[in-house]
Amino acid sequence: MEITKRHIALLGSTGSIGTQALDVIAANPERFVVEVLTAQSNANLLIEQALRFKPNCVVIGDESKYNQVKEALWSADIKVYAGKEALAQVVESESIDIVLTALVGFAGLEPTIRAIKAGKHIALANKETLVVAGEMVTSLAKEHAVNIYPVDSEHSAIFQCMAGEWHNPIEKIYLTASGGPFRGKSAEELATVTKAQALKHPNWSMGSKITIDSATMMNKGLEVIEARWLFHLKPEQIDVIVHPQSIIHSIVQFTDGSMKAQMGLPDMKLPIQYAIAYPERIHADFPRFDFLKYPSLTFETVNTDVFRCLKLAFEANEAGGIIPCALNAANEIAVDAFLNDKISFHEIPTLIESSITSVSNIHNPSLDDYFRVDEMVREIASGKLSNS
Ligand code: NAD
Ligand code: MG
Repeated sequence: MEITKRHIALLGSTGSIGTQALDVIAANPERFVVEVLTAQSNANLLIEQALRFKPNCVVIGDESKYNQVKEALWSADIKVYAGKEALAQVVESESIDIVLTALVGFAGLEPTIRAIKAGKHIALANKETLVVAGEMVTSLAKEHAVNIYPVDSEHSAIFQCMAGEWHNPIEKIYLTASGGPFRGKSAEELATVTKAQALKHPNWSMGSKITIDSATMMNKGLEVIEARWLFHLKPEQIDVIVHPQSIIHSIVQFTDGSMKAQMGLPDMKLPIQYAIAYPERIHADFPRFDFLKYPSLTFETVNTDVFRCLKLAFEANEAGGIIPCALNAANEIAVDAFLNDKISFHEIPTLIESSITSVSNIHNPSLDDYFRVDEMVREIASGKLSNS
C-alpha cells in the first residue's frame, strides 16, 4: 500500500523532544518529510540537522546567528530566516501537514495559533501553550477543524486509552507523576537542595526548564491544566498520583468504574511517534517492558504543602481565566532565576505566589490580554528579584 508522506514543521528541533523527534523521523523516511526546522540559539546543531534532513527552510531565533546559518546552508538551497515573526510565519506554509511544537515556554503560543489558523494539525509537546491559553487554543482548533495530538507522555497515555471510546464520557483521569528527584522530602529538606540535585531526574532526561518543573512538581500542575483543555474536563475530574517507576503513564476512569491505563518503559520517542503517525502504530524497536524487572509498581499521594508549586497550579486551574497565564509567566521567571543561581529551590513557589497575587482575573481573555499579562507578571517577578 502506498503511504502518503506527512510533511512536518519541527519547532525547537535542537532540544530534547526535537532531537528525539528527528530520530523517529529518520527511522521512518517513507512516512515523514521535514519541511521546517527551528532553534533558538544552537546554530551549529541546527545547521547539522538541516544538512541531514534537507528541509525547505530553517528559522534561528537568535538574529545574531543569522549570517552563520545562512552561509552554511546557502549551497544546500535551504531558505534561512531569523527572529520571532519568521517563526510564526513559516508554520503557515502550504506544504506543511503537521506542526510539532517542541519549543519551550510562552514562545510556543503565537506559532501554535498561527499554525491552527492556517489549518495545520498540531503535535503538541509545548504544554505551556495550553496552560496559558488552553480555552482559546482548543476552541480555535475546533473552529479550524484541526487536531491537537498530545506528545506529553501522560496526555498521550490518556489519548491512547481513549481510542474507540470518544463517545463514552470520562468520569475521571489520574495523571501519574514520578515524584521527581525530591519525592518524599520534607519542606525543611527542600530548603537545602542544590541545583545539581534538582537537575538530576530519576527517570527522564529532558531540557533544563521541564527538569526543574519536575523537581518542584510544577510540571504536574501544568499537565493538570493541559489535560483539562485537551480532554474537556472540569478541574475536579483530574487527579495526580505519584508512581515512582514511571511505567503507567496515566489512567482514564469511565462512568462504569472501569479504568484503562497505558504503560511501557519511559521513552518519549513512543508518544512522539504516536502523535505524528496517528492513528497508525508504526513498528519500532524501542526497548520492551519486562514484568519481572518491575515486580512492584507502587503509588503514593503528593503533599502539596511541601510541593507548593503543585498547589499553586491547582488553584490557578480552579480560578481559570487569565490566572494560569500569570502562573506560567511567574514560573518561567522563577525557574530561570533558579537556574542562574539567583534564588534557592524553596524560593521558587514563594516568588511565583507573590508575583501573581495582585493579578486581577479576566474571564474569556483575548490574545492581547495573554500577551499583556504575561509581560506584566514577568516584570513584577523580575522586579522582586532585583529588589531581593
Ligand atoms: P529543550 O530546552 O531541550 O529544547 C527547547 C527547544 O526550543 C530548543 O530547540 C530551543 O532552541 C528552542 N527554544 C527555546 N527557547 C525558545 C524561544 N524563546 N523561541 C523559540 N524557540 C526556543 O526543551 P524540551 O525538554 O525538549 O521541551 C520542549 C517542550 O516539550 C517543553 O514545553 C516541555 O515542557 C515539553 N515536554 C518535554 C518533555 C521531555 O521529555 N523533554 C516531555 C514532555 C513535554
Ligand atoms: Mg509529562
